[in-house]
Amino acid sequence: MISKLAMPDSPATWIKNPLAIWTGSEADARGGIVVCDGQISEVLAQGQKPSGPVAQTFDASEHVILPGLINTHHHFYQTLTRAYPTALNKALFPWLKSLYVVWAKLTPEMLSVATELALTELLLSGCTTAADHHYLFPDGLEHAIDIQAGVAQNIGMRMTLTRGSMSLGEDDGGLPPQTTVQTEADILADSERLIKTWHENKPGAMLQVALAPCSPFSVTTELMQESAKMADQYDVRLHTHLAETLDEEAFCLERFGLRTVDYLQSVGWLSGRTWLAHGIHFNEMEIRQLGEAGVGICHCPNSNMMLASGICRTQELEAAGCPVGLGVDGSASNDHSNMINEVRQAMYLQRLHYGADTIRHTDAFRWATQGSAKVLGRDDIGEISPGKRTDLALFKLDELRFSGHHDALAALLLGGANQADRVMIEGQWKVIDGALPDVDLEDLKHRHQAAARLLASLM
Ligand SMILES: [Zn+2]
Repeated sequence: MISKLAMPDSPATWIKNPLAIWTGSEADARGGIVVCDGQISEVLAQGQKPSGPVAQTFDASEHVILPGLINTHHHFYQTLTRAYPTALNKALFPWLKSLYVVWAKLTPEMLSVATELALTELLLSGCTTAADHHYLFPDGLEHAIDIQAGVAQNIGMRMTLTRGSMSLGEDDGGLPPQTTVQTEADILADSERLIKTWHENKPGAMLQVALAPCSPFSVTTELMQESAKMADQYDVRLHTHLAETLDEEAFCLERFGLRTVDYLQSVGWLSGRTWLAHGIHFNEMEIRQLGEAGVGICHCPNSNMMLASGICRTQELEAAGCPVGLGVDGSASNDHSNMINEVRQAMYLQRLHYGADTIRHTDAFRWATQGSAKVLGRDDIGEISPGKRTDLALFKLDELRFSGHHDALAALLLGGANQADRVMIEGQWKVIDGALPDVDLEDLKHRHQAAARLLASLM
């Protein structure tokens, strides 16, 4: 059978007869898909042809097709402090303490090239939508989010820009140095300005804004409360780090007399507009509360292993009603920004925790696509079905590592794919033959390395 929407007026492209395809639904898509005007118009069963004329045909017989991967938590600026000597081999709190002082020297030029590099790296790994959690606004970097919006527009990537914040410095019992925090009034005024400037509230939105106080140990209770009110007022999403480590749980108990989820509830954040990075240390009752509220969880397997933070309980959280998605987390705790690699790591870490017959490779694909879309509050991306936006990642299995494979979809993760051959966003090919037309990667690396060296030299 052919599933289709009303025939479009403008030229359509048939992405024909893929080697394998994972759509996120039960539909037979072996005949490929028809895309038009940034939207998927038809999904074709084996042997079926488009119901109307197509202007172009793309032979996908050597490609595995996935919905574009969705990264729901990152810190782009951290690409400048990968494998940073004083941060090596540390758990979260001492790791943060060793890096806050470096990050405090960030400049607009550094953030711009870090954003460019992270988005490019993500794109090449099959990622089509990314949420960045930016919470550093030192003097001179007041327009950090506007810089990121400009870079995302230039590259043509879909983004959730999160207006991060820190308002609780060391002098007041917080973790970050005083020089890295802002006042609640400044944060809220900028948050409102950014929503009004950049937030698109429509299907196919390329840029959305969310409010994202950094973590319980770096923001004040008042800022959490006021951010929740503003998110309600403007109908935008809320994001923060929560339950990443037991140090954080101890901090909440000592400062607020509450465990992390009780604290979240006390500040008005236990709602379906909230998504949390990590979400590791929850008890049974907390998982029930989060599920009933529909709070989204971003699982960050590489980062959790790097900092030895723990393992996200994806199965219990999903069963309770929480959308679960994936994120690469910041590039100082991963340290790469490769989404297809993150999907592989999620499969392995969760399989180690729950068993080989419980976690399937398709679970990992689901988290990175449909799950991540739900985490970001979107129903227009994350699967391949009529009416969804045409965000696609196509991989070839022509490297030595895949030779001898039988199940092409499983081979993508088991063989360790790390680069897409083609990526389409909103109907436009952004990656062609494993490269970005118009982007000089050598020049980008050179500029980024220079910025990283300059940042380290300011210490
Ligand atoms: Zn993070």
